[in-house]
Amino acid sequence: MRCALCRQMDKQIYNNLPQSLRHLVDEIEAHVGFEIQLQPKGDRQNVSELHETDEEFVGVMPRYDRATIEYQRSVDEISDEIYAHELLHLHRYYVRNIPHLYPKKKADGPSTAGMENWLEHVVIYGEQLKLVPTMATKFNADLEGFWDKCPWGLSGYALRFNLITRYLITNQYCSSTTKKAMGRAIKELTLPFSLRAAAKTAKSAIRDKRDFVVSVFGFCEIPVDKFWLREYDTKNRRNVWYDI
Ligand SMILES: [Zn+2]
Repeated sequence: MRCALCRQMDKQIYNNLPQSLRHLVDEIEAHVGFEIQLQPKGDRQNVSELHETDEEFVGVMPRYDRATIEYQRSVDEISDEIYAHELLHLHRYYVRNIPHLYPKKKADGPSTAGMENWLEHVVIYGEQLKLVPTMATKFNADLEGFWDKCPWGLSGYALRFNLITRYLITNQYCSSTTKKAMGRAIKELTLPFSLRAAAKTAKSAIRDKRDFVVSVFGFCEIPVDKFWLREYDTKNRRNVWYDI
């Protein structure tokens, strides 16, 4: 892992990571044949490039020739919990060849990046909690607070998307207290459909990203023909794009 600022810092960062995260770095770098870059967001070359995952203050940009972890504040503020999260995004893309969702129209860029991020989180949070168990308390508190704000001023497909992704995450990884908060929120909505049934169908498709997208977007009534899937072709070290 190389920091764009100075070599010295990245060795230190790498050595300070827990063994499990160093292992993720090694596996990703061995797979792609280049080092993961740590870079301030302000240094991004091509600002118009669709930003992959815009999270709190760190995000990842997995390209076929470059893997970047971008941060907005100080590199010292990046915790093991956040490194684990971003490295899992990169590991799923490069090592496990899980395709990413891309819009056919640039205008759909930001909303698509957000949806792609949460589709990945449905799997990533489970793995991240295993890598960094100490994150569980804050994780539960954040989701409980999130459910308390339901329906988040949303309606239509955006509401359905939030409901099904957070339902899948809460149901699989959260405490009974957080599940109760979810139950209260859903009850108050008096939904004309069964979120439990829709989530069950989506969960059964989770191992295949394409099927998972089709299932979730079918429930949200989002037309899948507005999107591509982009997959990393390890053998030829390039991106492959295809219809859903
Ligand atoms: Zn993420």
